[in-house]
Amino acid sequence: MKVVALAGGVGGAKLVDGLAALLNPDELSVIVNTGDDFEYLSLAISPDLDTVCYTLADLANPNTGWGRKEETWHVFDAIQSLGGLDWFRLGDNDLATHLLRTNWLQQGVPLSVITERLCSLWGIEHRVYPMSDDPVRTIVHTASGEALGFQEYFVHQACQPEVAYFEFEGAENARALPQAMETLNACDLVILAPSNPWVSIDPILEVQGYRSVMREKPVMAVSPLIGGKALKGPAAKMYQELGIRPTAFAVAEHYEGLLTAFVFDHVDRGELEKIEACRIIPLVTDILMKDEQDRIRLAEEVLLFGERILNRSH
Ligand code: GDP
Ligand code: CA
Repeated sequence: MKVVALAGGVGGAKLVDGLAALLNPDELSVIVNTGDDFEYLSLAISPDLDTVCYTLADLANPNTGWGRKEETWHVFDAIQSLGGLDWFRLGDNDLATHLLRTNWLQQGVPLSVITERLCSLWGIEHRVYPMSDDPVRTIVHTASGEALGFQEYFVHQACQPEVAYFEFEGAENARALPQAMETLNACDLVILAPSNPWVSIDPILEVQGYRSVMREKPVMAVSPLIGGKALKGPAAKMYQELGIRPTAFAVAEHYEGLLTAFVFDHVDRGELEKIEACRIIPLVTDILMKDEQDRIRLAEEVLLFGERILNRSH
């Protein structure tokens, strides 16, 4: 079975890691959100690409959800002691990634090629695609009328501002990555990983082309919410501020018109009927991924469920 997963950072990376343990490199590709990308201290940072790649390469810091394990912080300690810009801290090994990426981008190498190079250096065999080689920037418009760059909102302001709506600057003119489109066209199943629907999956869907191919494919989403709560990050808070109750059903509804199947937690079993009423095929299971075993177990269930759906539709 050929699978394409759409992912943001932490939640997405965990499921992708489980899928990668079960599927061969020619059976799994990942399209990653780049709406979080930004420039900081003249460096090109791609947080979600790095989280996915570090996770797949077993280099990720398991405690933070960003950056690398076994990091040192000499550069940022020095920057801090000089009174420099330090609201977004980068570890020394992580900095090497950003320095190289920035340098290659300046030489005109596309982000997709850079990602391919890094993956190969890190021993990642599955394909990891940025959603586009053209810049897309998620802007958080707040209830008080401000327009914040995503990292400004997410890190600097610690997701405190109340959100009003999101804008994906550049998405309209960004070209979907041709290789990603090709893989998507040829796949049997699309999986929307348990990433933030508003700011991790939506930016990908906003890039022209992906959504229309996906309408022709079986699409399965895994809920990032359990019992009305996000495991990490502002997903639930965003739903609330946008006037929507943060439930598994709300996540399914978010992807209206796209979903064939939906995987959500036992805790939310009460929403089963509402989800089925939308003609979405449900799988109720344990969707919390605490460790490597959980990732593989959930990925296994998701793939078996996928096979069942495919058999049904043939
Ligand atoms: P970010 O870019 O790092 O914010 O990453 P994502 O958007 O990919 O991930 C954030 C989302 O992942 C949050 O909404 C979390 O609720 C969700 N998430 C994190 N861990 C888990 C997990 O173990 N299971 C599920 N189902 N969702 C998770
Ligand atoms: Ca992110």
